[in-house]
Amino acid sequence: MEPSGVNYFLEFTYLIASILFILGLKGLSHPETARRGMFMAEAGMLAAIIGTLFHHGIITYEWIAAGLIIGTIIGGLMAIWVPMTAMPQRTALSHAFGAFAAALVGIAEFMLHGGLAMPVFTRSALGFEVMLGSLTTTGSLIAASKLQGLIRGTPIQFRGQQYVNALLFSSTVGCLLYSVVNPASAGVFYAMTGFGFLSGVMIVIPIGSADMPVVMSLLNSYAGLAAAATGFVLGNNVLVIAGTLDGFSGFILSILMCKAMNRSITNVLFGSFGAVHDVAGAVMGEMREISLEDAAVRLAYANKVVVVPGYGLATAQAQHAVRDLANALEERGVTVKYGIHPVAGRMPGHMNVLLAEANVPYGDLYEMERINPEFPTTDVAVVVGANDVVNPDARDNANSPIAGMPILEVDKAKSVIVLKRGQGRGFSGLENPLFFKPGTSMLYGDAKASLSQLAQEVKNV
Ligand code: NAP
Repeated sequence: MEPSGVNYFLEFTYLIASILFILGLKGLSHPETARRGMFMAEAGMLAAIIGTLFHHGIITYEWIAAGLIIGTIIGGLMAIWVPMTAMPQRTALSHAFGAFAAALVGIAEFMLHGGLAMPVFTRSALGFEVMLGSLTTTGSLIAASKLQGLIRGTPIQFRGQQYVNALLFSSTVGCLLYSVVNPASAGVFYAMTGFGFLSGVMIVIPIGSADMPVVMSLLNSYAGLAAAATGFVLGNNVLVIAGTLDGFSGFILSILMCKAMNRSITNVLFGSFGAVHDVAGAVMGEMREISLEDAAVRLAYANKVVVVPGYGLATAQAQHAVRDLANALEERGVTVKYGIHPVAGRMPGHMNVLLAEANVPYGDLYEMERINPEFPTTDVAVVVGANDVVNPDARDNANSPIAGMPILEVDKAKSVIVLKRGQGRGFSGLENPLFFKPGTSMLYGDAKASLSQLAQEVKNV
């Protein structure tokens, strides 16, 4: 890089951007600092964009301005209109855009300079970037389509699929290695790109939509690594740093999510857990229904209530209604806490985001390890649209498909009220013995409607 004033400015903005990315990521690790972390990361991105605008290689700004305007409009509209419940598929789309950008930059570099003009390290980084970028683009688009219901969410499988996938993926890697060793072979480079796009589709279609959050965080990690490789190809430090942060944080997140479900990454990618929705549950007795009035009385006269939100809270958009109920109870002197399972809902931090939107104080949110010892002294555990994360079979039944998954032990509370619409099962497709226990009462209905009516009833008690 030339030692001109402009380039010092560029390197300085990249340094600031990198620092802001690291601080932003640190902020995102806790709900209380998450918002600040997000703003820091955004400021970092702005600094990186402004710095890049001063790059000496830029001849004209027209295309850049057009990209900025179109990108800003699309991003802004998505942020305004996409509902909270559609956040997983929106995130998958962002990964697809990022990965496609990385793949396109790699392909453009190859077309501009050809493999022969590059040292072997740059060639390898470029091949890696295009391979991961293409695979992540189509993989993320399939993930988004499954989550949005545009294509069937259940695993799409056929005989010999694993062999076809293994062959396809090894062909992709084979072409990558060949094009690194024989840089003149442009055809092999483009074949690798095509195989990469196809691999993304083939790897993701056999995975059920319920496992998509883990797949997405893995794809996020690939998109980050593709961006880091782009940084090596272009000699761009901020891309190397941001891509590496993204790549490894995505990978760590995937591992943490698998841990919270007591499953391995290979089981998520090659097993089809999302397909077990038809598993017939053993007959476990009767579920006891409770009336709205009785539920309100039980809550109103409790000392301590623990609310356990799950996926149903998100689909019902009941976060404000749950806050209203908590307010009504607190006004009566009842202590209300929230028990948060790490994989409640359909994306990491799903419940934290929803409850934060309803201004539930962070101090009232308790992680699983902290709330579990409190259940024996809890008068009423209110389960709002949660199912798998409170399934005692995970703890008690070694033969259960979810055996070993850590749960919120609501069955240890003095009584449990479960709010759900009917007999629907959770993500795992398994029956939940909690609903049949003597201490459990079922309050049927949409979570938002039930909670609003409960809050009203509690005020009338
Ligand atoms: P869940 O097991 O999927 O159960 C959700 C329950 O909500 C259902 O039984 C459903 O019963 C009820 N429901 C749906 N809509 C409702 C509405 N409008 N009002 C009231 N109830 C409603 O949810 P969870 O307990 O939160 O568990 C999450 C699952 O997702 C876990 O198995 C986890 O491993 C998996 N998962 C999570 C992540 C993540 O990052 N969070 C990632 C991958 C997988 P009805 O139909 O009877 O109403």
